[in-house]
Amino acid sequence: MQKQVETVERAFEPALLEPGETVCETLNGNGHGDMVLACEHASHHIPNYFNGLGLSKKARHSHAAWDPGAKDLALDLSDAFDAPLVCSKISRLVYDCNRPENTPSAMPSRSEIFDIPGNIDIPINEAQARLAQIYHPFERMLSSVLQSRGQPVLVTVHSFTPVFNGKKREVEIGILHGTDSRLADAMLEFVPADAGFVVRRNEPYGPTDGVAHTIETHGQNRGLLNVMIEVRNDLLGDPKNVMRAANVLAKMLTGAMKKLNSSTKDARS
Ligand SMILES: [Zn+2]
Repeated sequence: MQKQVETVERAFEPALLEPGETVCETLNGNGHGDMVLACEHASHHIPNYFNGLGLSKKARHSHAAWDPGAKDLALDLSDAFDAPLVCSKISRLVYDCNRPENTPSAMPSRSEIFDIPGNIDIPINEAQARLAQIYHPFERMLSSVLQSRGQPVLVTVHSFTPVFNGKKREVEIGILHGTDSRLADAMLEFVPADAGFVVRRNEPYGPTDGVAHTIETHGQNRGLLNVMIEVRNDLLGDPKNVMRAANVLAKMLTGAMKKLNSSTKDARS
């Protein structure tokens, strides 16, 4: 009986995507590195179904809709570590893949200075469809990439706006973690003396703001070393600057991974 009800409800789930439209992708899927990268906010794309969520073009392309520069940075790190990179191809305003299921912030009706008309009073069947057609495929893709590679480290890559709610942010690189801080702790020990960036722990926000969802669900719960990287988006405006940030982060990650790998071996011996 229950099964019948579910089938009927599912039949009313609208198709949100055009034929052939995909919601996530894995780049460098055959990479051999000990790392998996994820970029949940890589794209500002809003499928046609949503009519731009009722937003102006400015809002649809703003940092509210995606993390400008984050995918470019993740691609440089993917090259540096020969790591697979799993990206969402849908704007976080449609569904934020770095939020737990069924939390209001996964489909926010307001983001900083913008109201999101298309997210006000979302019909339940459409909310279910966003979960099933956008979030679950991303989760499955990231899970399967992680499962296929033993014990990789999980690194998620994000960018943040220099000014939020009118307040300027001093931090330039944030190293964020949930309860498992091993990788973040070690990375902070390896900030190069000449890095030229203001690097801070759990800034401009931290796990209490609900941003540690992916690293906790996919990293911590699997016992994987994990970290979330946030870079201020005014420092990712062109390929040269992206590379500059990537080089500093690569040094921090390399130092941290070597240290943790050798301490893991020590613990085993
Ligand atoms: Zn982000």
